[in-house]
Amino acid sequence: MSIIVQKFGGTSVADTNKIREAARKAIRAKQRGNQVVMVVSAMGKETDKLIALAHELMEHPDSREMDMLMSTGEQVTISLMAIALKSLGEDAVSMTAAQIGIKTDNSHLKARIKSISTERMQKALDSGKIVIAAGFQGINDEGNITTLGRGGSDTTAVALAAALGAKECEIYTDVDGVYTTDPRLLPEARKVTRIAYDEMLELASLGAGVMHSRSIEFAKKFGVAVHVRSSFSDTEGSLIVAEPESLAATVCGLALAKKESRLTILDVPDQQGIAMQIFERMAEAKIATDMIVQSVGSDGLTDISFTVPELDRQTALEVLRKASNEIGAGGVEYEDDVTKISAVGLGMAEQSGVAHRMFRALSDSGVNIKMITTSEIKISALIEKEKAGDALRALHKAFGLEKLAVLPNGKSGNVNAKKSAKRGLSQGQTMQTPAEVLARHKSVSNFGMEDILIERVSLDQKQASVTLSALPDKPGVAATIFEMIASEGILVDMIVQSNGDGQVASFTFTVLRNNLRTTLSVCEKINKKLGGRITVTNHPAIAKLTLRGTGLRSHTGLAYRMFKTLHDGKINVNVISTSEVCVSVVVDDEQGEKGKKLLETEFKNELL
Ligand code: ADP
Ligand code: ASP
Ligand code: MG
Repeated sequence: MSIIVQKFGGTSVADTNKIREAARKAIRAKQRGNQVVMVVSAMGKETDKLIALAHELMEHPDSREMDMLMSTGEQVTISLMAIALKSLGEDAVSMTAAQIGIKTDNSHLKARIKSISTERMQKALDSGKIVIAAGFQGINDEGNITTLGRGGSDTTAVALAAALGAKECEIYTDVDGVYTTDPRLLPEARKVTRIAYDEMLELASLGAGVMHSRSIEFAKKFGVAVHVRSSFSDTEGSLIVAEPESLAATVCGLALAKKESRLTILDVPDQQGIAMQIFERMAEAKIATDMIVQSVGSDGLTDISFTVPELDRQTALEVLRKASNEIGAGGVEYEDDVTKISAVGLGMAEQSGVAHRMFRALSDSGVNIKMITTSEIKISALIEKEKAGDALRALHKAFGLEKLAVLPNGKSGNVNAKKSAKRGLSQGQTMQTPAEVLARHKSVSNFGMEDILIERVSLDQKQASVTLSALPDKPGVAATIFEMIASEGILVDMIVQSNGDGQVASFTFTVLRNNLRTTLSVCEKINKKLGGRITVTNHPAIAKLTLRGTGLRSHTGLAYRMFKTLHDGKINVNVISTSEVCVSVVVDDEQGEKGKKLLETEFKNELL
């Protein structure tokens, strides 16, 4: 008999009527011949209320006690759900994470799942019961209750589906699927019928709150089909799948991380290993950093900027100030009230011109871009928070997302997209089968279910890099540069941009080596157009080293390990790009081979 996991979020179990409705859905799934595991969240805003109570007593409550407190929310729901099922004549049993055996590491508030025992659940299922599991919680080796991070019930659900070999994991929520962007923020957002794991992983990690991004790591790693759908209707929702055969839209969705902060460490001695020390500390504090930009150094000094969620800013600032003193940097600056807006799509990897369309749309709506970073399937821009709504609307229109069509075969495709995204798809589809991953999971001692898996380390020695500095910091500069380059048919790969002191901006980007000459002549034209004060420098041959895998950014220690490995091998890192599915760095061409070998050795346990 096949197993189906159904997860119900907070609004879907907000009162006893809704709990009864959810119970009916589970009964119907059972009547269709499935064994059913329900995963439930705390009722309504219960978790927020519990947190507020703790904060009435103390500003920074102890994290062990917070986990103890917050986990009670789910415990209320599981028992009420079991009572509801029984009231409807169905046999059911509620289980906490400890009763199931959802083992996690010790990091309270952000615990990662190490293993899940299935015996007790399976026994209950085989005896005809519906199992109701508490979402969001786990238990560590000392028997302490842990939680997986806000929104973590999605992760419990997909992880249980993976462990039980369920045929599907249904996520019942208050929207009827995954949309091109948050439908609460933009009414013209469209539902997508199917979306690839890699796309959903990026969107979720970049701010699309509909799914906890770590749940998609599980889904991809173990090949679980996830169906996001409405609790309040029976309409089909969105499928999150590997999706090898579908037409991928150039851009499938937009995500907004509304409350971000940018931190900058100034006048860092431009020596190997400095970046490493900064990110080592952020990793130790379990802060996920993004949009890392090292600005052009003068006098042997560079500025390093990166973004963190505003919630983590205070901790990040303390860590950074300490680091600044120790490494003799010139100090630390930060900026709150900034928003990261990102466009995501597997199709992007093959299309030129996504970047300049994004920058033009932003500039046309008067949005100044403070920072830009790209990876193969996403482009992120940091903008002022108050411009977020305008920016979202402009990009949604620019990428034709309101026209996203549902194709007759049930797959979604952008009517504007001409090509299927072969490059992106092949990257997304190289994971092993769930059985292989599980076999590996058993063969490596202490291999946790949520540990990083790296698909491969790759070396690209076909590119050159160009840096434009001393550019005016005003809307339209990025659009002008990348439109002029795109008009020559030149495909730009990595782009990073950072504003210096608010007066000038600098860009570094990479192009194929055989396009360098043309690119440099375009840069001359750009210089003339933008006032003639731009400095243009280039590296005719760079090497790009990339780690590909799942959940690379959310595993906060990964970027640090990558920098440290290269640093220990005396390899200097010039440009960095981080995302959930790949982390890339630019190093000198002659160091490429050596860097690849070093990374393969460092990550040999995680490499598939
Ligand atoms: P639950 O409590 O069921 O886990 P969440 O509030 O965590 O529900 O997630 C659902 C919400 O996610 C929606 O109400 C919607 O506002 C928001 N959301 C953000 N981005 C998206 C998106 N791309 N597609 C659909 N919903 C989104
Ligand atoms: N109740 C938890 C939260 O509000 C977990 C969840 O709902 O997914 O974050
Ligand atoms: Mg949620």
